[in-house]
Amino acid sequence: MEAFVAGKRQLPSGSVLVTFDDGDPSVRTVAVPILQKYAVPSVAYILAGRPTGFDLMSFSQIREIQAAGVSIGSHTVSHRSLGSLSRAEAMAELVDSRRRLEDEMGTAVHSFAYPFGTAKDMTPQVIDCVGEAGYTTGFSSLHGAIRADTARQPYALPRVKVESGDPQWLFPALCAGAMDRWRLVDDMLTNLQKPAESQLQKTAA
Ligand SMILES: [Zn+2]
Repeated sequence: MEAFVAGKRQLPSGSVLVTFDDGDPSVRTVAVPILQKYAVPSVAYILAGRPTGFDLMSFSQIREIQAAGVSIGSHTVSHRSLGSLSRAEAMAELVDSRRRLEDEMGTAVHSFAYPFGTAKDMTPQVIDCVGEAGYTTGFSSLHGAIRADTARQPYALPRVKVESGDPQWLFPALCAGAMDRWRLVDDMLTNLQKPAESQLQKTAA
């Protein structure tokens, strides 16, 4: 995966990497047996802190899923939008979470997923910090498959987003790109926000 993003390796069309954000206990109890059965590569993006409102695996459970073949990435310490923080605060979230996870897991952590993952959570300053903190890949929540051209932006990788309440019939459609056009809407909203943020907020309110 990282070699593909770096442009050093081709992958067959339709290749899949399954990712999970936060560290919900169902990753261990529900997903891991299926991932193992079908030998599907996966990454769990873990919250290194214990923010309120999340039901999270313990570090020993996270070591269990790592031993079962799931790679571990960082999803910050506190699950705040990095776009809303100062540069120093964003760096602390990125560096502290990586160190904590590396200490707990005993392996290097190179990959990151942005909390919320919309365009405003991954501003150019934030993306710069992700690189400076030593990560080689950053996953957003923008809809889309990773193609050879998107792979040239290793810190703004799109994903096919599947929510916990999505019905099963929707899943094949999502994988076929049914929601990819929402990426364009995300981009449009971001562009609108730049010159006319106050106006847009008025409209939204
Ligand atoms: Zn999250």
